[in-house]
Formats: sequence, structure tokens, C-alpha cells
Amino acid sequence: MWQVVGQDRTLLLLQRSLEKGAIAHAYLFTGPPHVGKMTLALNLAQALNCEASEPPCGDCSSCQRIGSAKHADVQIIGLTSAGNTGEAKTRTEISINQIRQVQHQANLPPFEGKCKVFIIDGAEHLSIEAANCLLKTLEEPVGRVVFILLTANDSLLPATVISRCQRLELLPIATGEVETALSGCWGIEPQKAKLLARLCHGCFGWALSAALDDSLLEQRSERLDRLLDIIIGDYEERFTYAAELADQFSRRRGLVWEILDLWLDFWRDLLLVKVGFGEAITNVDLEAKLADLARDFSLVEIRAVISSLQAAGDELQQNANPRLVLEVLMLGMPRGQGDRVIR
Ligand SMILES: [Zn+2]
Repeated sequence: MWQVVGQDRTLLLLQRSLEKGAIAHAYLFTGPPHVGKMTLALNLAQALNCEASEPPCGDCSSCQRIGSAKHADVQIIGLTSAGNTGEAKTRTEISINQIRQVQHQANLPPFEGKCKVFIIDGAEHLSIEAANCLLKTLEEPVGRVVFILLTANDSLLPATVISRCQRLELLPIATGEVETALSGCWGIEPQKAKLLARLCHGCFGWALSAALDDSLLEQRSERLDRLLDIIIGDYEERFTYAAELADQFSRRRGLVWEILDLWLDFWRDLLLVKVGFGEAITNVDLEAKLADLARDFSLVEIRAVISSLQAAGDELQQNANPRLVLEVLMLGMPRGQGDRVIR
């Protein structure tokens, strides 16, 4: 069975193509991180190699081997992959050498299954040379080989590559659907399922990871604690934090985006509580505390912080000086009362 949660339209389309034997030579799965692109790609690889009458069964030897990344005919190419020494290497782009190896292997018949599948994860990171090299392969499809390109941003891919693929867009799914799947299929306790369904913003993969790995929720708590310190903190504390974030931005900008997103969710929740629409908040485990803190700020102040956070995000995207952007953000944030701190 298909493991992807939601995405019914896409699954139906793939199911029909499988039944008609009309699978494309190349697919492009687009959608935000953790929405299910890799799960769907592996499921499709299973369906193409499954030995049962209703593929993908998930139980046969092929499905099991693909599920545990041990199948010789299913390869994942991306920024992180094992080198010759077996050690994981992290690159800044998918190189032409990686694609040349793929080309070579695509010309060989399947080793143990029915169909070779090459999954290119983070296809937007293909170097220009690698993309051109891949294009040649896509222009001359070989039998029993399927390429699946995964990307969160297909605007960064050459149009020539996109035009050679069948593009399928995976959209974030409804909160209720995530909650039902977490509690129904994975046995997650209702309160935790409700919280994770809100926090994941429709991307089931994140919710499932957080359900199985407590460190993600612990990390969120630490970040929220820091946010609350900043809300009641003085200017010195805020500037120190701005410098800290700016320093992280130069090394791991994804981490700063995550923190800004968390802040945005938090201030949006305060806005919802302030206007009496608390049932729509994201941080459902902080409901009482948000209600308490919302009294510290006016509606105008909360809206101004949300606008500043959005503006800071836009400016960072446009390569503005990160320290300056983050200092202005901290400086403009209204100060909460210490005796109402949420801890
Ligand atoms: Zn199977």
C-alpha cells in the first residue's frame, strides 16, 4: 500500500498510470520540505519493482529492500551521499560526476529488480553542468529506467529539465487529516497528535519525525524559552541575541529561518487570542499562557511585530546585512512584563 498521507489525487494518477503501464520516464515531485516527496518516490520505486499483484505491497522482498535502502536498482542522489569510503559527504551542489555515474548505471540492465529508479533529492541543487548532463539522459529515455526529481523550489531548475518530466505537485494537507493519521495509524496520543498536526503546517513528514523523535519538540521548547527571555529582556540581551542569530545565519541560515518561523507562529497565536479566536492557534499546548501574555500587548503592537518579522524574513532573503536586520527586529519588539513570563 501507499505510505503517503493525503495527496489522494497524485496517488490516483500514479495508480492509473501503473495499471495502464503508462509510467513516465521522468517525474518531478514538487512541494515544501517534509510534505512526502521522498516517501512517494520510494513508494513509486516499490510499485515498479513489486512482486505482488497489487503493487506496492510493502511486504515482498523487493518492497522491503527498497524500504530499507538496500535494493541495488534504486538509488538516491543528493547533496548528502556515501562516498567511496562509505562515509557520508555533504556537498554544496549535485555535481556533474554524480550525474555521469547515474548515466553510466542507467545504461546497464536492472541488477535484481524490474526497473531502475534514480531519485534526485534536492534537484534544485544540480550544478549547471550536472543539469545539462541530466538533460541529455532525459532526452534519450532508456527502457526500464525511471528518474524522479524532488524539489521544494522548481523555479530554480532549468525549464528544459522541467519540460522533460511529468510534474506532480504535493500540497500541504489539512490539519485534521494529519491528526487522524497520527493517532489512527501511528498510535500517537490525542493531545500530542493535535499539537504536532498544528506545528507541521500540513507537512506530515515533520509531524511524524517529531512524534518518533522527542528531540524536535525539546528543541522547540528551548527556542520558545529563548523567545520569552527576549520578550521581557532589556536591549543588551536583545542585541546579544541578534548578534548570535546573525552569526548563525552566516553558517546555517536554515536554522535562523526555523527560529523566525517559530516566532511568527507564536506572535500570530497572540493575535488570534487577542481577537478571541484562540481555537485556531498553532501552539495548542501554550493556550493558557498565550492568553495571559496577550494582555501585555495591544493589538497594534502584536500586528506590528508580525509585520516586522515578515519584513525581516524578506530582507534576509534579499541578502541584507543580517546583523542589522535582526537588531532592528529586536529593537522594535515591545517589552512584556516579567511577572507574566510563560514558564
Ligand atoms: Zn511488493
